[in-house]
Amino acid sequence: MSHDSAVDALDRVDRLRDAALQAIESAGDTKELEAARVRYAGRKSELSRVMSFMGKLPPVERPRLGNAVNAAKDRIEGALRARGEALGARELENRLMAERLDVTLPGTAFPRGCEHPLLKTVRDILAIFEQMGYAIHEGPEVEWDRYNFELLNIPPDHPARDMQDTFYLTEDMLLRTQTSPNQLRVMHAHPPPIRVVVPGFVYRNEAEDASHGDQFYQIEGLCVDTDISLGDLKGTLTEVAHRFFGPDRRTRFRPSYFPFTEPSAEMDIECVVCKGAGCRSCGYEGWLELGGSGMVHPHVLVNGGYDPEKVSGFAFGIGPDRYTMMKYGITDLRLFRENDLRFLRQFV
Ligand SMILES: [Zn+2]
Repeated sequence: MSHDSAVDALDRVDRLRDAALQAIESAGDTKELEAARVRYAGRKSELSRVMSFMGKLPPVERPRLGNAVNAAKDRIEGALRARGEALGARELENRLMAERLDVTLPGTAFPRGCEHPLLKTVRDILAIFEQMGYAIHEGPEVEWDRYNFELLNIPPDHPARDMQDTFYLTEDMLLRTQTSPNQLRVMHAHPPPIRVVVPGFVYRNEAEDASHGDQFYQIEGLCVDTDISLGDLKGTLTEVAHRFFGPDRRTRFRPSYFPFTEPSAEMDIECVVCKGAGCRSCGYEGWLELGGSGMVHPHVLVNGGYDPEKVSGFAFGIGPDRYTMMKYGITDLRLFRENDLRFLRQFV
């Protein structure tokens, strides 16, 4: 190998280096840059092949060519790195622009629900009783005639049955007209003392109007212990009314009649609209009926398996429909069942 061959090889290295730098500089994206890298700096590149001349050169010429190739490689690699960074940054920026999210755009609205006013009332009332030490029970909506009427001191020919006509499934099985059968169910299941509230739907065969429905909610209450008096009944129900309606609402008890309590009382609350003066909402009475209550009839205690000589108790029925209407000034019961969002949204 002659001196001329060495000069040729050095020229070749310079030309390859310049071509490589040119290709790298003009690479438009990382793909083109990778092609330039393979061509000029890869293991099978022409520059690598120049090195194979090395063995054919006189030993004195070898270091010059080696140094020239290494220097060319260094420059090419430096250029590849710099171009790679520039292209990478540009491509990242392009991708970010393309995938850009405008976080200020309004999002998809999720309609937010709220508790139905009746359910809210039921929960509020149950929470009040729980704070007073009452347990919550539930009973079947399909009930035996025996539990719904007979054990509650309402025999088959009793006139009270006419007031509570219902839907019969068989001769002796019906949709319960009241939650009161649970007084017996609870007494049959637990020895005294008892403090329990039983919420649930009840049914009546009635034409629907502004204040009547064929299905409505009721909360039954029963307290049996030694020495329970009418004073306990009045104190308990008055406290519940004050906690639910506010301490300023006056309440009163009027004598009444129910077959399964003796004595019986109807509880009234001052009209929220006229504060007792009398107005159209309260039929000019000043008072509105809240629900029935009374001391548990000795016959019912016996039917429940309790000894009326040893224990006494009081029972009551609360109508959450009525409580809700009186708390919020709602005049038509049917609004609760129509699912009219304009009505329901007021309770959010
Ligand atoms: Zn009034």
